[in-house]
Amino acid sequence: MNGTDLKGIGMTSARTRERLANRLREKGIGDERVLEMIRTTPRHLFMEEALSHQAYDDTALPIGYGQTISQPWVVARMTELLVERGAPRKVLEIGTGCGYQAAVLAGLCDEVYSVERIRPLQEQARKRLRELGLARVQLKHADGTLGWASEAPFDGILAACARAEVPRELLDQLADGGRLVMPVGDTGTQWLTVVDRDGDQFHSQRLEPVRFVPFQRGVER
Ligand code: SAH
Repeated sequence: MNGTDLKGIGMTSARTRERLANRLREKGIGDERVLEMIRTTPRHLFMEEALSHQAYDDTALPIGYGQTISQPWVVARMTELLVERGAPRKVLEIGTGCGYQAAVLAGLCDEVYSVERIRPLQEQARKRLRELGLARVQLKHADGTLGWASEAPFDGILAACARAEVPRELLDQLADGGRLVMPVGDTGTQWLTVVDRDGDQFHSQRLEPVRFVPFQRGVER
C-alpha cells in the first residue's frame, strides 16, 4: 500500500473517526492528544475487511486466535492514563494483538516496544505497522511476563491483557518516576490499575472495572 492509498482511506473514514472521538469525549476522555490519535489512526486497517464496517463503533472485535482488538474507549483511557503526567519517552506494551494500541502510542511517545505471544498476530501487526510507516515500533514474539529486559527501563508500561497480579519483572523494568497501566484481576472482575514507581516504592490505584483477554504464560508458535 502506498501513501496515496492510505490518504484515500483516511479521507473516506475521517468523518467516522471524528464521530468516534466525539463519542469518547462524551464518555469522559478529556486528553486532546489522545483524541487526536483516535481521529488520525485508521482502526479499520487493523482488522479483517469483513468487520471493518464496525471499526469505528466503540466495541472490541475479534482478531482471530481467540483474541480481540480492544474497545476504543479502553485504548483511549489507558493511553490517557499513561501520558497523564507527560508523555513517556520510552514505552513497553504487552500484547501487541493487531497493533492498533501500538500505533496510537507511536504518535505520542518517542520509542515504542511491544511484545506478543501469538506469532501470526505478531507478524500481521508488523506488516500493518510497516504499511502505515510505523516501522520504528519495535515488535518481538515473546512472553510479556518477562517484559523486555534488554531495553529496560521503560518510562511507561501498558499491558493489554489481565492477570491477578502485575508480574514482578514488569515492575522491575519500570523506570523511577515511571507509570504502568494494566487490567488486574482474575476471570471475575478486572480493574484498570495504575502503578507509579517512586524509587523502590510502588503506588497502586484501582480505577474502573474492565474486561480483557487473559495475560497468559509462555508463547504460542
Ligand atoms: N493491543 C491490542 C490488544 C490485543 S488483546 C489492541 O490494540 O487491540 C491482548 C493481546 O495480549 C492478545 O493478542 C494476546 O495474545 C496477548 N497476550 C496475552 N498474554 C501475553 C503474554 N504473556 N505475552 C505477550 N502477549 C500476550
